[in-house]
Amino acid sequence: MKNNFFYIAFLLFFIFACSNSEKNLDKNAIKIFNLPKVECTNKLEAYIFQAESLDQEGIDLIKEWVCVSERLFFDETNSNWDLINPVYIAALDRNDVNSAIELEKRYCDHLEEFHNSQINVDGYGNNGYDNGKCNPKHYNPQNEGCDYGLCLFTEPNGRVAGSSISSNMHSDGFNLFISNSHDLPMHADSYGYVTIHEMFHIYQYSNLTKAGSRNDLMKMVGKLGTGSNPDAEVPWWIEGNAVFFGYYKYAQLVDDREWFINKMRSSVDDSRTSLKSKYLSSGKKINEFTWNGDEKEIGYELGAWLVAYLIDIFGEESVYNFWENIEEEGDFSKAFTEYFGKEYELYMDDFDEFLSKPDSEIVDLLYRIY
Ligand SMILES: [Zn+2]
Repeated sequence: MKNNFFYIAFLLFFIFACSNSEKNLDKNAIKIFNLPKVECTNKLEAYIFQAESLDQEGIDLIKEWVCVSERLFFDETNSNWDLINPVYIAALDRNDVNSAIELEKRYCDHLEEFHNSQINVDGYGNNGYDNGKCNPKHYNPQNEGCDYGLCLFTEPNGRVAGSSISSNMHSDGFNLFISNSHDLPMHADSYGYVTIHEMFHIYQYSNLTKAGSRNDLMKMVGKLGTGSNPDAEVPWWIEGNAVFFGYYKYAQLVDDREWFINKMRSSVDDSRTSLKSKYLSSGKKINEFTWNGDEKEIGYELGAWLVAYLIDIFGEESVYNFWENIEEEGDFSKAFTEYFGKEYELYMDDFDEFLSKPDSEIVDLLYRIY
């Protein structure tokens, strides 16, 4: 869940009319991917790159929760499938960095063959091989301070990469969902809420169909331009959404309200060390927290609380309406005001006032929305 989405400059793309025969060609190209497909899915084309050391149990959980996410957030007729498919899932084993390095090679071979400088029939770019870390002509890991593989499925410090969406569908030609493993059986729940979280990001971005610079795209989703520093990227909305829906939907699917309450409550308890206490004593608003150090967790977890706060007033549907109409509304602020009744800036004080209540009162909100 770290911030390495959209690691490349946004490419201009070309819309061109496509004939039926070209569409058929594209479908055939997908069929010849020699990759295990997540078979329970309907219109979703999700394929798995599996780290050799990862157990089958982990793979089965990923498949299960990807299928759940498709049912939750994507829809046969209304979803922008050109901006969703294919989804590549790099299923990593957190305890074996060598298997992640080996998987990078298989993944890059695939990109070299299928996502290498052609324009897709759907009009978006298909150049993930050059855009990312796979093409050695464009990226030298050692020069970037990377000592383990490509630092694509690994970190510079030799750890296995954390879960994230690490691609730009408009120019790469696919969505890449990096899925780090969770130790089983005790962390089986993490496969659920983390997979839903990442699939929610694919849902968010799939609503942005128009071409634009990377900055324009980040402004549209509220990651840029909604904090006090216009150049700083802030997670409160984009991540607050994904964290909230990860917890909320996971709990609903396993029918465990207490799990949801406990997960959300842990960040707002009255102890001096809780995220809420750190936040309230920081003197900053939720939209000023960035991805730097300790700030990230506050942006993510209390961002989820802001989403819960809005859902309590406007309902869950308002969030989907926001995402699905954001482009039509024109920009982040207009869409926010349209679906949540007033400017997002005005909610910052309301939210602080809400968080200043005793935790028992705060937690009551969760019982209202679940
Ligand atoms: Zn995220």
